[in-house]
Amino acid sequence: MRIVVLGAGFGGLACATALRKGLGQDHRIIIVDRKKSFMMGLVKLWILAGNRRLAESQTPLAGLDAKGIEYVNDEVTRIDAAAKRIHAKDGGWIDYDYLVVALGAEPAPEKIEGFAGRGFNLYDAAQVEPLRDRLLALKKGRVAVSIMGMPYKCPPAPYEAAMIINDMLEKNGTRGGVEVELFAPSPIALPVAGPKVSADVVEMINKYNIHFSPNCKPKAVRDGEIEFDGGRREKFDVLVGIPPHKSPAVIKESGLAQGEWIPVDKSTLKTQFENVYAVGDVTEIKLGQLAMPKAGIFAEGQAKVVAQEIVGEITGKQATSGYDGQGFCFVEVGGRMAGYVQADFYNAQGPLFRLEQPSPVHYEEKHDFERSRIKEWLL
Ligand SMILES: Cc1cc2nc3c(=O)[nH]c(=O)nc-3n(C[C@H](O)[C@H](O)[C@H](O)COP(=O)(O)OP(=O)(O)OC[C@H]3O[C@@H](n4cnc5c(N)ncnc54)[C@H](O)[C@@H]3O)c2cc1C
Repeated sequence: MRIVVLGAGFGGLACATALRKGLGQDHRIIIVDRKKSFMMGLVKLWILAGNRRLAESQTPLAGLDAKGIEYVNDEVTRIDAAAKRIHAKDGGWIDYDYLVVALGAEPAPEKIEGFAGRGFNLYDAAQVEPLRDRLLALKKGRVAVSIMGMPYKCPPAPYEAAMIINDMLEKNGTRGGVEVELFAPSPIALPVAGPKVSADVVEMINKYNIHFSPNCKPKAVRDGEIEFDGGRREKFDVLVGIPPHKSPAVIKESGLAQGEWIPVDKSTLKTQFENVYAVGDVTEIKLGQLAMPKAGIFAEGQAKVVAQEIVGEITGKQATSGYDGQGFCFVEVGGRMAGYVQADFYNAQGPLFRLEQPSPVHYEEKHDFERSRIKEWLL
């Protein structure tokens, strides 16, 4: 059999690794990505904090070949589910027996008029070091952290960034002259986590003297000013934006998406197309009015289930009991400290959360989280 995985990010790497472990060498596992290296999204926060450099945070995807996974460095340009094949820009058509789509979500800064050039995109790795330099050079003024649309990757990340900025400015001796304010388009901080967790997060940032403004969806950015829907205007000296997100163009062009994202079965991650699965940020799993958040931990959990489903079908072994909607994340607060949140999104009575207070132990666990996965997937 030939299993093709599209995207060598969190979900794709976890899936290809689990498939390789579950299937004999007579089955081919091919992974396609336009990137040459992998870096976890969370590393951007360490770059912002000054604990990492971008240049030392990339792990080459070429390491996949030694793991028995065929890595194709190419751009996926078409998915033809009817003919069970995908098209790569340089390499042409690749046939598959099973397809796993893990192409992620892309920030779309162009959706906010005037943002490019006036604000820093926190989710663009190349902009984080210049952002750090700009923040450290600011002696007096206002930093606006603006979540510019929903959904976006890793819902707590903008709040973590605001607390890291607070810590940086404290250490820099400039916090006294610099205001930090977080603007969110939603009425509460983390809609998917509900009002209680949202209130806890706002209380957490308030403790660091970071002000929270809900219901602020940017319409346009002008020199030194954001204009929100409804006409409210706010000044800034440094704008840290989390742009709205979109799915990769090939997803919409191939007919896999309904609206922006790919709908999947919440338990098996099957799409409506035969032998086509999708995992991670490119999917939409509805949870009542809301949707499963976009985060690596969920992409990974889903990817492992998909691998077991495919291995089960090929080998005739028992498949899994399905994806359980559980995950966790470490919420950084600056000063090499992180809190810990455990989440159960499929709980019958509604999503359930357990929070642990910030500690240096959780911060270290976050580093282990990165290290252990890179070792398993690529080294
Ligand atoms: C600042 C920040 C902090 C974060 N912190 C956390 C955290 O603490 N915990 C957590 O769980 N998650 C965190 N995340 C979120 C996490 O990084 C993403 O949710 C996760 O990477 C999603 O995995 P994925 O496999 O769906 O997509 P990705 O990891 O984005 O992988 C998609 C891959 O597809 C490739 N691709 C896309 N289109 C094409 C194409 N046409 N052709 C070829 N290749 C293509 C891309 O190059 C990419 O490598 C954070 C994200 C950010 C930005």
